Amino acid sequence: MKNLFDLTGKTAIVTGANTGLGQAIAVALAGAGAGIVAVGRSAMDETERLCRDTGVAFRAVQADLSSLEPIDRIVAASAEAGNRIDILVNNAGIIRRADAIDFTEKDWDDVMNVNLKSTFFLSQAVARRMLVDGHGGKIINIASLLSFQGGIRIPSYTASKSGLAGLTRLLACEWAAKGINVNGIAPGYFVTNNTEALRNDPKRSSEILSRIPAGRWGDPGDLGGAAVFLASSAADYVHGIVLPVDGGWLAR
Ligand code: NAP
Repeated sequence: MKNLFDLTGKTAIVTGANTGLGQAIAVALAGAGAGIVAVGRSAMDETERLCRDTGVAFRAVQADLSSLEPIDRIVAASAEAGNRIDILVNNAGIIRRADAIDFTEKDWDDVMNVNLKSTFFLSQAVARRMLVDGHGGKIINIASLLSFQGGIRIPSYTASKSGLAGLTRLLACEWAAKGINVNGIAPGYFVTNNTEALRNDPKRSSEILSRIPAGRWGDPGDLGGAAVFLASSAADYVHGIVLPVDGGWLAR
């Protein structure tokens, strides 16, 4: 029987793959057989070692996604390896915390630029390439619980992740008939740099933990299965969803 989740021979771009959820997603896709193009502003050595251990091809592309400068470079470098781009995971993201009443324009723009603007234009550039290649593809946006909820003290993050859920649906509607699946994953509370401030705050940390039905924070590896699913032929008829991987948080 065909393995619906096999990614052998596919190439996946993963942004922000040096650490945290992006690294775990890259390793999971590599484990399913996909070659990895790891995109980000920091060294990818650890991710490279973990991906190569699975026997797949690996390439790192240095890129700061706070501007659109690297977009064409990322697509060109991915294709240079002689590969089609089959999968794009828009994972790179930042968060800034301050009360809405004090929030600065810089903290608004910085977050929106990485989390939403670059995500849209990289998706556009990759989709153009997928359309030329004519084999379709999978685009996976890393959204958030803040795609569904308001949160506190993170106005630009909530706006960006709520916007990303809408963008996921719009792109799915435009590109579904062209063979490109656009979906999202909404991680709950995971142990990464992104949540360090929350985990260091004993009150917030215990409030969050007590609300998670699974009774624990997410480990980055918990996200791998959802990423492989949405990247694989098992999800060929799945379009425009934002799949929570949250230990049951949204079910509460
Ligand atoms: P993280 O450890 O802080 O990772 C963020 C990644 O984005 C890093 O690789 C980071 O690179 C990269 N990045 C940030 N700004 C960038 C830029 N200008 N150019 C290129 N890369 C950039 O946090 P994480 O939790 O793994 O976050 C990954 C994604 O999951 C984010 O979109 C985040 O919003 C989302 N998310 C996380 C959680 C959670 O609980 N952890 C929950 C929901 C959603 P550097 O290391 O070089 O900064």
